[in-house]
Amino acid sequence: MIERQTMDADIACVGFGPAMGGFLTTLTRALSESGSGAPGGWQSCVAPGMPPQVICYERADDIGFGVSGVVTRARGIRASFPDLDPAQIPMCTPVKTEKLVYLFDPIGASQRSGALRLADRVLRACGLARLEAYEVPYCPAFLHKKDGLVMSLGQFNQWVGAQVLASGLVQIWPSTPVAMPLIEPQSGGSGGSLRVAGIRLADQGVDRQGNADANFMPGTDIRAALTVIGDGPVGPVGRQIDERFGMPPGHARDEWAVGMKFVVDLPERSTLEPGTVFHTFGYPEPEIFGFFYVHPEGVASVGIFVPSWFDSPGRTAYRYLQHYVLHPYLWRYLEGARLRSWGAKSLQESGKRGEPWLVGEGYARIGEGSGSTNVLTGSGVDEAWTTGAQLAAAVIELMRAEKPFTKENLEAAYVARRRASWVEKEGRIAEKSRGGFQKGVVTGLIGMAMAAFTGGRLSPPGTPQPSHVRMQRARHYAKRISPAEVEGLRAECKARNVSFHDAWMDRLGWPPIPLDGQLLVTQQDALLIGGKVQAADGYADHVVFLEPEICGQCGARLCIEMCSGQAIVPGDGGVPAFDREKCIHCGACIWNCTQELPDGSRRTNIEFRAGSGGLHSSEN
Ligand SMILES: Cc1cc2nc3c(=O)[nH]c(=O)nc-3n(C[C@H](O)[C@H](O)[C@H](O)COP(=O)(O)OP(=O)(O)OC[C@H]3O[C@@H](n4cnc5c(N)ncnc54)[C@H](O)[C@@H]3O)c2cc1C
Ligand code: SF4
Ligand code: SF4
Repeated sequence: MIERQTMDADIACVGFGPAMGGFLTTLTRALSESGSGAPGGWQSCVAPGMPPQVICYERADDIGFGVSGVVTRARGIRASFPDLDPAQIPMCTPVKTEKLVYLFDPIGASQRSGALRLADRVLRACGLARLEAYEVPYCPAFLHKKDGLVMSLGQFNQWVGAQVLASGLVQIWPSTPVAMPLIEPQSGGSGGSLRVAGIRLADQGVDRQGNADANFMPGTDIRAALTVIGDGPVGPVGRQIDERFGMPPGHARDEWAVGMKFVVDLPERSTLEPGTVFHTFGYPEPEIFGFFYVHPEGVASVGIFVPSWFDSPGRTAYRYLQHYVLHPYLWRYLEGARLRSWGAKSLQESGKRGEPWLVGEGYARIGEGSGSTNVLTGSGVDEAWTTGAQLAAAVIELMRAEKPFTKENLEAAYVARRRASWVEKEGRIAEKSRGGFQKGVVTGLIGMAMAAFTGGRLSPPGTPQPSHVRMQRARHYAKRISPAEVEGLRAECKARNVSFHDAWMDRLGWPPIPLDGQLLVTQQDALLIGGKVQAADGYADHVVFLEPEICGQCGARLCIEMCSGQAIVPGDGGVPAFDREKCIHCGACIWNCTQELPDGSRRTNIEFRAGSGGLHSSEN
């Protein structure tokens, strides 16, 4: 048995994203106003005479290394900072103009349905295709980020983190992955009831398989009265809680997307105004939505979302992103631009439908991992922030009343606040809005409009299916390429021990990318630019192929094709190999694995564990 150090805290927090930013900002203000630690103010239960001990652990090597768009209405953020001046936050600016743009396919390689091809012909015949694009005359209210902000998530998190740390009331530890929640029998509870008693940090000084080496340092157990879980869409702590406590009836997380983006220096000739926002759809594939946001000082974010309902065996976001920036509508702005950084992350697109139990004995969930993201408005940052702020208000209420952090008390103080808020109201409208995409893009778009305009009363029918189930029966590409040819191409790539996605896209008619060494660079170069991806030594691999024999018999090996960092590559005996020096922790391999474990748990054959390293860029 390994002997571990134990440390006591009052509140232990997992992850520092916008949700935790909202929690810690609200909490530290209240602690500070109460004269916390001083006689008469709030005191720590574990260090009497001191303020409550609040410790936050972030797995990335700095607190601003997250990835997001971001354009946000910032209602919750502004409620926390009523005097917010966007000029205080680097890369932040008010939204000035916002356009919704339908992109035609100038190449003819995308997989368009008959209905979409007909719509393209009609729009072109009406003379509405300028620069291979049609600017929709108005941006629907549900998409519009009225009075909103264009931001960089990394810069925003750093700005928030600096203020929280300056309060002196919270410790934030970057580069410290949390391995697991400490789940224990509830003392004095009825038979079988469990509580979360804190967290365990990841072991260090181990080899890639997790075996101790000479520098072995077992992860410390942090015991706390309240554990706050804000580890985002694919966080391993939230996932372990879900596995242990299950999901509420009817709730599941079967809709995902990987969002990938470039941050670029626009060419000097650019006249694009900061605050310009384009939302796009139609290209590079009808299933792939895109965005282009202009920050101050000639910097822009440009990216795409590749969803789990895109039934293609070659879902390679990086190459699709390159084709996206080359679209004539965007290229007129981007020709001559220079890549500053790049990144990707999963989005939990089930939103409220994927909401877990929000609280339990000794723990609470906030942010995207708690189902807060609005899948209709494409908005997650402000929602995450607001859930964090709501939990902090609840914690203050309970501390004031000297009530413990039981499930019942957290439900009354936190869940009730959340249910009464705009996050819940809008989340309900959005809940089933994307069901139509299960049948196709056109039905999906109609369904979104239907849900938006009826306030969620009418939503398209259709129960989302997990990606691995869809991929098992995905055959629509056979309309253009026969399954036999796909298998032949796959076998050829396997024999050459190379991934299949490039051969697949070439075969579909996508032209080679005209690499220019500054914006259009190889994926390997993008990984290396400015030393952006790094892996810390001494941790076990965080991507694990659970049952190698299943991989050996897996046909699609989609994990290799879609890996955002090319960190999963063909390996011996058909089992992929993982190179963590290239992993950007997007978490997309979990939901792109096409094989379910035979244990009936609905888990796939990839486990995504706590790990450090990854992207080193605070601009994404
Ligand atoms: C490309 C892209 C574009 C987007 N565009 C927009 C947009 O325009 N507008 C918008 O509102 N939203 C957008 N989103 C969604 C938005 O980014 C998320 O909804 C939001 O970041 C969720 O915040 P969070 O705090 O819940 O989680 P996260 O931002 O994911 O933060 C969770 C944190 O927990 C850390 N963590 C995870 N596991 C552990 C562990 N084991 N130990 C310690 N720390 C851990 C992570 O490193 C991370 O820092 C976009 C997302 C992507 C990927
Ligand atoms: S991890 Fe999943 S997708 Fe990848 S080879 Fe193994 S079973 Fe197939
Ligand atoms: S291996 Fe890393 S980079 Fe590749 S999909 Fe998984 S988390 Fe993303």
